[in-house]
Amino acid sequence: MNDLLAHRLRLLGLRNVVSVRTHTNRTVMITLTARGELRLHQGYASAPDRVLRAIVRFLNPRLPRSVRRLAEREFLGFPVELYAPAPAQPGRERPRPGDLALLQRLASTHERLNAEFFGGLLGEIPIRLSGRMRTRLGELSVELRTGRPTEIAISRRHLARHPWAEVEHTVLHEMVHQWQAETGRPVDHGREFRRKAREVGIHAQARRRVSLEKSGTCAASRAGGTAEA
Ligand SMILES: [Zn+2]
Repeated sequence: MNDLLAHRLRLLGLRNVVSVRTHTNRTVMITLTARGELRLHQGYASAPDRVLRAIVRFLNPRLPRSVRRLAEREFLGFPVELYAPAPAQPGRERPRPGDLALLQRLASTHERLNAEFFGGLLGEIPIRLSGRMRTRLGELSVELRTGRPTEIAISRRHLARHPWAEVEHTVLHEMVHQWQAETGRPVDHGREFRRKAREVGIHAQARRRVSLEKSGTCAASRAGGTAEA
């Protein structure tokens, strides 16, 4: 189903999206992650081309705001929940023992790094542990409609296997994305990202990150590594 949807979106002109995933969360219809994963409501798989074309237009940052706003109205008007109702149980993972302590530690890490590197200007943000992230270490989600960052997810695998210093590094990496989102910059691994990453010192561990890549890591460290070279 996702493959077909991705294929249709590409035929209608979608660019710069690496993968497409669907969900049934009614509050956030469309998000685009920094590594180029487009997440949209499952109901759009049943939408006509007219609606999908509006999504493609909306995702093109080069189009004028007025055009994007019209496109937004168009795809928000499509009744996704009629085609893909939300599950009775929300699709969240079950909490596990020890989660609270981990989440507290991550939240205080975020707070400390915020004060240290961002003048305390970043907003508080929910942090979630993800057992589904296999190849990525962390991830920031941004709500496209508002540009507002919605959460940071940290891989459970990463937490279980790697030293805390590397987890902090991941949190800081996602915080650079948060800074991008909150200051109206595009959330990506481009030049601005690399400049800020150097400023907060994530480059210092680039080599260690490169070796981590063998076990799979966020594409971001590759971008950092390139900047190093
Ligand atoms: Zn990244």
